[in-house]
Amino acid sequence: MTTYSGEITLETKGEPQIIDITSEVEGHVESSGIKSGLITVFVTGSTGAITTLEYEPGLLKDLPAAFERFAPREAVYEHHLRWQDGNGHSHVRAAIIGPSLTIPIIKRRLPLGTWQQIVFLELDVRPRQRKLIVQVIGEK
Ligand code: ZN
Repeated sequence: MTTYSGEITLETKGEPQIIDITSEVEGHVESSGIKSGLITVFVTGSTGAITTLEYEPGLLKDLPAAFERFAPREAVYEHHLRWQDGNGHSHVRAAIIGPSLTIPIIKRRLPLGTWQQIVFLELDVRPRQRKLIVQVIGEK
């Protein structure tokens, strides 16, 4: 078994920002040389999240609208009352989506659907410099 490590760095603008990272992730699959295995992408930090989405203009509005329904910006957050940092909703949204994604590698490729892109979600209230950790394990 072989392992490979990499990084994806992003300069974000603050919420709500949805960034398509599919080509960067596929680039790491290629660089790893792994034919069969798993790739994990993980964000360091608790106000960013990673998932998959059909990256089209409708959903780029629908997903932030759903965030506003289940964790509204204007609600009262104990986190904010404690730290005064204004991002209680960011933490709640990020916790529900999750900080990582694992995808199988089959014959050197990711078996993504045609309309399934890998996305990083910037959920914090301010621009951030994000570091995503990429780890690949498998057989060459
Ligand atoms: Zn906070």
